[in-house]
Amino acid sequence: MPRTDVMLNDPRLAAAQKTLGRDLVKAAVVSAQQQVREGFADPDGAADIALALLPATAGGLKSVVNATGVLVHTNLGRAPLSPAAVAAVTAAAGYTDVEFDLAGGQRAPRGRTVLAALAQAVPEAQAVHVVNNNAAALVLAATVLARGKEIVISRGELVEIGDGFRVPELLESTGCRLREVGTTNRTALRDYRNACGQDTGFILKVHPSNYRIEGFTREVSIEELATIGPPVVADIGSGLLRPEPLLPDEPDAATALLQGADLVTASGDKLLGGPQAGLLLGREDLVARLRRHPLARALRVDKLTLAALEATLRGPRPPVHRSLHASVAELRERAERLARRLGGHAEAVPTIARVGGGGAPGVELPSAGIAVDESLALRLRSYDPPVIGRITDGRLVLDLRAVEPGQDEIIAAAVEHVRTRA
Ligand SMILES: *Cc1c(COP(=O)(O)O)cnc(C)c1O
Repeated sequence: MPRTDVMLNDPRLAAAQKTLGRDLVKAAVVSAQQQVREGFADPDGAADIALALLPATAGGLKSVVNATGVLVHTNLGRAPLSPAAVAAVTAAAGYTDVEFDLAGGQRAPRGRTVLAALAQAVPEAQAVHVVNNNAAALVLAATVLARGKEIVISRGELVEIGDGFRVPELLESTGCRLREVGTTNRTALRDYRNACGQDTGFILKVHPSNYRIEGFTREVSIEELATIGPPVVADIGSGLLRPEPLLPDEPDAATALLQGADLVTASGDKLLGGPQAGLLLGREDLVARLRRHPLARALRVDKLTLAALEATLRGPRPPVHRSLHASVAELRERAERLARRLGGHAEAVPTIARVGGGGAPGVELPSAGIAVDESLALRLRSYDPPVIGRITDGRLVLDLRAVEPGQDEIIAAAVEHVRTRA
């Protein structure tokens, strides 16, 4: 058995210690020795095995290929950043002028350029602010505008987003009371009117982003709510800044503001296609109160988020936009090319992709992919990089809509590799 210190001195493993640190390399060495001890490998190959076991980065998170057909997949990190956003993150990672005016040599407001980019993207907003995520945006709005008061909300909009996260519980945790109005399927303007009074902090309109109520239904528009009196806060969820023709039922910030919302909250890492962030857009006086509240400091975003968000707003369209707009013909062509390349072991199939992650719940995006033997699923997830598909009718389907065209080659190599090792 090669000794640990001897293995750590292997030039390749020594080099790896410079990028990964000694502990991670040592852990790989110990695992490799274990494999040799158990007879799975030859002692001469121990260093090669340790090298193969090294993680790609010291960060713990692995880059994966999203072939699930779900564009904004919460378990897979929601929106992938654009190359422009990744470059901006890298540039901001060291010392940066995040709160420094280089011309004057003095302190400058944090996030000033990203806030300018957001304001420019949504001129309908008098003022804008950015916090950690949409949940933080709601907490800040509730704390500042409704603490000790009531938030009036329809019973049809008491949403659980996922992983047990419930908007009503989040709001109540700030010390405000919810005044539920209407019924699950129908709420009328007079329900809101009757509930509003001295005690009202604001009226909240929540976009039910992951379910639909169909049939005998009625909801009240932002325009109508704006006639009652108290501020109207609209949680639009997905973060579309302007209408998206492919998703006509998905609310957007500009339209909500034009309809009379006083404040709009949204996520940065859903359909906007950027980093995790919470966007607040709306009336100058309200945004100023939010920004000045002590809680705002606890919810503020770091320089990496600011950089990624600004590059998403100012740079080229992010991957989520490309995936949403990819033509079925092009996806089908890619699927057929992959299937040909893999011979009889994969079949090009039509699929249905989804926005996911809290967005456009009913929308089916026609798509294409390849179907392979279901038994390959675990091995594809264990491949480097892991390829994640979904099981349909006893086969593993790899949907190409959320896959970068440049990653098709990875999928081909992965299927080839795990199939021949089956
Ligand atoms: C996703 C979503 C949230 C939560 O947003 P985060 O950015 O994950 O905190 C809140 N409200 C709605 C309507 C959503 O769709």
